[in-house]
Amino acid sequence: MLSTMQDVPLQVARILEHGRTVHGRSEVITWTGEGEPQRRSFAEVGARAAQLAHGLRDELGVRGDERVATLCWNNAEHLEAYLAVPAMGAVLHTLNLRLPPTQLAWVVNHAADRVVLVNGTLLPLLVPLLPQLRTVEHVVVTGVGDRAALTEAAQTAGVRVHDYEELIGGRPTTYAWPDVDERQAASLCYTSGTTGDPKGVLFSHRSTYLHALQVNSAEAFALSQADITMPVVPMFHVNAWGLPHAAYMAGASLLMTDRFLQPAPIAEMIEAVRPTVGAAVPTIWQGLLAELETNPRDISSFGRVVIGGSACPPSLMRAFQERHGVTLVHAWGMTETSPLGTVARPPAGVSEDESWAYRLTQGRLPASVEARLAAPDGTFAPWDGESTGELEVRGPWIAAAYYGGAGAEEPLRPEDKFSPDGWLRTGDVGTISPDGFLTLTDRAKDVIKSGGEWISSVELEGHLMAHPDVLEACVVAVPDEKWGERPLATVVLRQGSDADFAVLREFLGRHVASWQLPERWSVIQEVPKTSVGKFDKKVLRKRHADGELE
Ligand code: ADP
Repeated sequence: MLSTMQDVPLQVARILEHGRTVHGRSEVITWTGEGEPQRRSFAEVGARAAQLAHGLRDELGVRGDERVATLCWNNAEHLEAYLAVPAMGAVLHTLNLRLPPTQLAWVVNHAADRVVLVNGTLLPLLVPLLPQLRTVEHVVVTGVGDRAALTEAAQTAGVRVHDYEELIGGRPTTYAWPDVDERQAASLCYTSGTTGDPKGVLFSHRSTYLHALQVNSAEAFALSQADITMPVVPMFHVNAWGLPHAAYMAGASLLMTDRFLQPAPIAEMIEAVRPTVGAAVPTIWQGLLAELETNPRDISSFGRVVIGGSACPPSLMRAFQERHGVTLVHAWGMTETSPLGTVARPPAGVSEDESWAYRLTQGRLPASVEARLAAPDGTFAPWDGESTGELEVRGPWIAAAYYGGAGAEEPLRPEDKFSPDGWLRTGDVGTISPDGFLTLTDRAKDVIKSGGEWISSVELEGHLMAHPDVLEACVVAVPDEKWGERPLATVVLRQGSDADFAVLREFLGRHVASWQLPERWSVIQEVPKTSVGKFDKKVLRKRHADGELE
């Protein structure tokens, strides 16, 4: 029998209206790099979002599920677009400003974006691309920037240019949001395209709403109106891990970094604004830790800091705890999972000492994310904390397919990404404990297959980064005549350190079996990073494809 409950659609417009009214006094604080940051209340942001929707519809003629792209840092205007575009029924496409220009043009054309909203400071990136963008009719610019070059390029490309403030100015501050089907696409984010062309994931209104509720649960980040949330993770990287939606829903104020992503300004804004929650990939926290060694700042306002996107080196987690009293909370996810998959909160009742074993895992599965481990023999490995397999997941905020592109009849369901029964194949290899804690040993493609045994590159990196002289360590597989593959360790040493390989090898040997120890070592200036700040192993593998050091 059917329930007697109301069937109210879950919509981004609901998040917008709730934040605008109930939490109208919470703030979006955007760092400007000079003097006082810009402060805008949730009420103002909501009102401006309505004005933006009017501008997009009445001036630019945005209709139905047309795509509006953003090429923006984390700031108040980006949040206004985050709320306005889906609420009016259109689709927000967040462009990753660190993609190589050819890929950026590719995704804009693939999505058939009609409008691009761009921060003025990013015009040097957009202007040279304009001639290649086949579907863009309007560019809306926020803030300062070289608009003369844009005007010229736009004229040639037949694109109209608008000033953001002029577009929204004087328009009504409320909007009759359409009653969109909750399964409709709200936003679009492309994976960073580590292999082949990037793949588009279309988040629905429903998945966005449910995911925000999950982010706000006590088992995850428990945002409340008492918090100031600082997503250092960019809003183009899987919706800044859902934090903008979750914060606006909970009334948690937001500290936006804008373009100031170097360790020094990050430290400065933490001390000045005193955020309580942070979120970023390990390389950002690693950089901040090093910065604080030389330029101490008070970061004690942080109650919890989310770290994910790649494995958190144990030494980093301990250093933040011991030196700054800040708890790093490890979480796992991917673009295809919205991204919140697991969060490493230790079970109740364990001692401080015991809690580390849990905190260093990728985390515990929430009720809405089901998981299984596919073993190579076609069976599923048990949840015994030991048997490994490729992680497969399903749930209401997990992708079932990729966007086929404008004009494509069907979404894409590549076999290596989706099982025949519809689960997402994550490409991550690991174990699950009987009480649902996931431990990843590696990405399937990063595992080092040495003479029939597997070596976890992540494990070697974690131990190496615990050495006081090592700033970063990245281990990749290189071809080896005898063993098939062997690990090659690249390390970035701290300034002034003169540790040599023999010392590091001996240090590593205290933690792993001797057959796992790399024979090949290389000191580098910096580990190459992907467009979202993760170690780019593809580049290192290519550099050492012949198995040799440089
Ligand atoms: P890309 O695949 O381009 O890096 P994503 O941000 O979607 O883009 O990356 C998802 C992948 O990042 C996961 O499949 C996993 O391999 C890795 N990852 C994310 N979080 C963690 C974590 N906490 N520990 C280890 N790996 C992680």
